[in-house]
Amino acid sequence: MPAGTEPAAPTSTGPRPDVPSPNGSLAGLVVVVDPGHNGANGAHPAEINRPVDAGGFTKACNTTGTEGDGYPESRFNWETSQRLAAALEARGAKVVLTRTSDDGWGPCVDQRGLTAQREGAALIVSIHADGAAASASGFHVIHAAAGPAVTADVATRSTELATTVRDQLAAAGLQPATYLGGGTGMVARTDIATLNRAGVPGVMVECGNMRNAQDLARLRSEAGQQQIADAITAAVAQRYGAR
Ligand SMILES: [Zn+2]
Repeated sequence: MPAGTEPAAPTSTGPRPDVPSPNGSLAGLVVVVDPGHNGANGAHPAEINRPVDAGGFTKACNTTGTEGDGYPESRFNWETSQRLAAALEARGAKVVLTRTSDDGWGPCVDQRGLTAQREGAALIVSIHADGAAASASGFHVIHAAAGPAVTADVATRSTELATTVRDQLAAAGLQPATYLGGGTGMVARTDIATLNRAGVPGVMVECGNMRNAQDLARLRSEAGQQQIADAITAAVAQRYGAR
């Protein structure tokens, strides 16, 4: 610049909503964290098979989830969701979990989504792990496509959140799924009741394949769970953190 001139002053010294910060505070942000399934779902078939409104069509209230070598998906979801909640709270977020233990049944998938509306949440993150062929591996992030139950705006922002979660998981060293999503680590769906009923942006993270030995080793280890929780937290901070 010419001598004697000052750099242009910023037009505002306030927040810069256009500049995402991976270190942003999450103070004031309400996040619903949904640990998929529940430990005693299998003992309550009548309750979990009851049809509920999944967003313009019906679906069973809940399912038992998968397992790997005797380690139930519901327990992985519960353990990792608690780590995720702690990491989000450490950045100032208010976290609402959709269940309070891993030894009950439900809640139903419609209620899990509706929790986000009821609590005035900005977003919902649902934690799951998949049960695919043993040779298949990797994570994928499910986001709701626009449709009768999901507005275009919520779908767009869900895709953006899913992209950031995918990028952070990949940056942490996790591999995108080999068996669906075309290697992108992302899948758009219209049949996920929890996302359809949320009314706010959301993602369902299938953190790995519990039937794959390498994935399972990560999923059941404390370090692996923490890595996943931290990556998702970094993504939320990148999208929703103070600028
Ligand atoms: Zn699941």
